[in-house]
This record gives sequence, structure tokens and C-alpha cells, in this order.
Amino acid sequence: MKMDNLTADSSCKLHFGNKPFKVVRASKQYLYDELGNEFLDCYTITAHVGHCHPHVVSAGQTQMSLLWASQGMLSDPYSEYIKCLLEFLPEKLSVIQLVSSGSEANDLALRLARKYTKRHDVAVFESGFHGNLSSLVDISEKSFRKLPHGKKDFVHIIPLPANMPCSDSSYDQDPEIHLEKAVTSINRAAASGRPVGCFMSEMVVTAAGVIIPPKKYFRSLYKVIRDQGGICIADEVTTGFGRTGENFWAYQAFGVIPDILTVGKPIGNGYPLAAVITTKEIGVCLGDFLNTYGGNPIACVIGKAVIEVIVNEKLMSSTKMVGIFLLQGFNDLKEKHLSIGAVRGIGLIIGVEFVCCRPNLKSATQLAVSFVRRMRDKGVILAVQGAERNVIGITPPLCFTLENARKLLKLFDQVLWELEREPAIIRLESEPDSLLGLSNISSDFLDTEISNEPVLKKRRFYVDMD
Ligand code: PMP
Repeated sequence: MKMDNLTADSSCKLHFGNKPFKVVRASKQYLYDELGNEFLDCYTITAHVGHCHPHVVSAGQTQMSLLWASQGMLSDPYSEYIKCLLEFLPEKLSVIQLVSSGSEANDLALRLARKYTKRHDVAVFESGFHGNLSSLVDISEKSFRKLPHGKKDFVHIIPLPANMPCSDSSYDQDPEIHLEKAVTSINRAAASGRPVGCFMSEMVVTAAGVIIPPKKYFRSLYKVIRDQGGICIADEVTTGFGRTGENFWAYQAFGVIPDILTVGKPIGNGYPLAAVITTKEIGVCLGDFLNTYGGNPIACVIGKAVIEVIVNEKLMSSTKMVGIFLLQGFNDLKEKHLSIGAVRGIGLIIGVEFVCCRPNLKSATQLAVSFVRRMRDKGVILAVQGAERNVIGITPPLCFTLENARKLLKLFDQVLWELEREPAIIRLESEPDSLLGLSNISSDFLDTEISNEPVLKKRRFYVDMD
């Protein structure tokens, strides 16, 4: 098929626009094109423990020759997986419903919340994204803002808890000012006779350009929502399964437990698997629920294998360590490049925000798009995020190494210098001495393990990836 034909329809968007990238195979944190060229994948959120991890592949292959479809019946893969997943959840969240995509999980979560609260209205973050089903396009500001109907009456927007543009990580900041805005929005909804039934949000708002709310923000906001009769849904389709490094779930960093947790992408390492996890009281509201593919035996053994790899390869410790190294590295680059407006991140979710040239904080969308294309030419795959499409998102597989991180930082620096010198983009006035300002990166954290690295009650061993 000709690429021209493939991309002529505006609904068909490929990464890298008119120079699309054809991938034929992948392993660990590397993608390979049809000529055998290797690319460093700094973008997948889905191939969480590494592309085609042998333990995950072998679990799926073995199960494929035993049993594929068993909907409505008991199966060992299903019960073993549910037991395994429960080990990573607080007691309160004890009901799990397996489905096949993040969108399906969020749609089911909405349905549950509406049945439980008997309210239809939903509060969501500005610039948020929760999936592609109609029900989710309606509540994803990033999606509906482009549509003719715009925002529907039952949707209430909560401003992002960040001083945009260019807020650095606001994790340690005072949440008050942001809470005030959120509470105003919730009270306005109630005053207009449309009280909020549920608040659905990512805990680290990746869709909006990796916005990290202040640590105490969710605790207060969840209380406000619950006090006025609503419930809280954490969409961890992107952030779950150890991606934040310190914790298995991103919500743990904020000292809250959601009423409903939705998970997807990393849960199956790319195999279609997702889940809605909730309390007994909410779960019981569902009534009849039939799902042909949700929790099929292949998905279950793959899901269990993914957790085993996270645990056995101590991927959370490595995520934390590599994440700190990258954050320091990007902050060093920020000192040198006036077109880096902000660096935000936690674990292996990092956003580097491009601006025209500090102190001018105008979003540098063209620079970001050109940058991602130029990096691909150098063998590094990245993505552009955020409402203004000026945030470079870095979300590699958790097996990303320090060596990969060094390569990424070095090329990031080089390519940004190249582009900053191009008249069509932005011209900088002065150039610092060193090409790569990474010498100050502390190595203190290099051999630390995190204290709460999970362990499985029943470990299973396998040949590690080479
Ligand atoms: N929630 C979030 C936060 C997402 O990023 C996505 C996918 N980008 C979804 C939900 C939808 O997941 P899926 O594509 O598996 O339907």
C-alpha cells in the first residue's frame, strides 16, 4: 500500500507524518525497521517490561496450545492471575473485572460509578484523555475540544494543578491555589443542580504533558468529591505497574486509595488486557456483565508473567534509579538550553517542555515536532505530548538502562543544539562550553534498591533477557 494513500485520510495518523516508520520486530527497548536498523524506544508505555520479553512470550505461547477461550467458565489461568494481582492491591480494592483495553476499562468504570452514585455528571482534568469510546471522548477534554459539540453539560472541568506554562514538577508545592480552583468547579456543578457523581483522573497527567500534582492535592480533592456524594476513579492505564518507580501504583505517592482503579497498556505488555478494580460495594452494582475476551486464558498468563518479570528483575528499583539519572540529566540540559522551559518527571514518566526561548515561555510546538523527527533519524523514538504539543514525553520500557539514558541525553543535547541554530526554528545567542553537562550527576543512588520493591508469594524463575 502506498504511504500517500495510507495517510491521505486525516483520521489515519502515523508517527512521523509523511516519513512513517515501519517496524518489523522488537526486543527489549529496541525496535527494528525492515532494513534491520535499530531504534531506541523511549516512547512505548505498553511494552512495559521490554518488547517480546521471553518469559512473557513463552507464557503466551504455552497457553495458546492449551486453551484460548473459556468465557463464563472457571480456568486456572484466570484464578491464578486474579490472586496474583490482588497481592498488589489494598484490601479495599478486592473486586477485579478483566477487559481488553484501557478504553473498555474506563467505560466500565464510568458505568459502575453512575450506577453506584445514581449521578451522571463527571469531573475531569483539563487536557485529560481517557480513551476512544464515545463515552470517553465526551469526558476527554483533549478530544472533545476539537469536536463541534464541544463540552457536554454533564462534564465539569477541573483546571490542571500546575502553573502552566512551564511549571517544573510541582510535587512539593502547596496545593492550596490549585485546590481552590478544583473546589470552585465542583461547587459550581452542584449549585447548578448537576452534582458530580465521579471524578476521573490520571494521577500523573501524562496526556497533558506529564503534570505532577502537589503531593497533598489528591487527598484534599478526593475528600471534597466524597463529601458531596461522589466517588474517585484513578485512570492508571499509563502510570500503573511500577512506572513511577517508587510505588507499584501512582496513587500511592499521593496517600489516597481510589474507589475505582483502571489499568491497561502495561498490564499485558502489549497483549490486549485491561482491568477495572474496585470495592465490593461498588462492584456489586454492575449486575450482569458479559465480556467475550476479557480475562481469556492467554491474557491471564501473560498478565501474570508481566508481574513476575517486574518483581524478579527488580524493575521498580531500576526505574527509580534510571528515572533520577534522567531527571538530573534533563535538568542539566535545561541549564544550557533556553528552549527547555521545564522538566517534570517521576520514575520513567518524564516530560521536557519546549518554549521559544526563555524568558519567552511561548510554547515551541514546531521545535518539538521537528525535534522528535530529527531524533528518529538518529535512532531514538520519542513522542510529543501536552495541550500545545510542545512537551517531549519520555516513557521507555522499564528495562531501559543507564547506558540507554546516557545515549538519550547525549543525542537530546546534540539535536537540540542543531535545531536551535536553524533560523527557521530558534536562534540562540550564546553557546556553553561543554557539549554534555552530565558530569555533576551524582552516583549516590546508583546502587540503591527501593524499600518497597514487591515480592510475590510464589516466585517463578525463568531465563532473564540477555
Ligand atoms: N487512559 C489513558 C490515560 C490513556 O493514555 C489511554 C490510551 N492512550 C487510554 C485510557 C485508552 O487506552 P486504550 O488505547 O487501551 O483503549
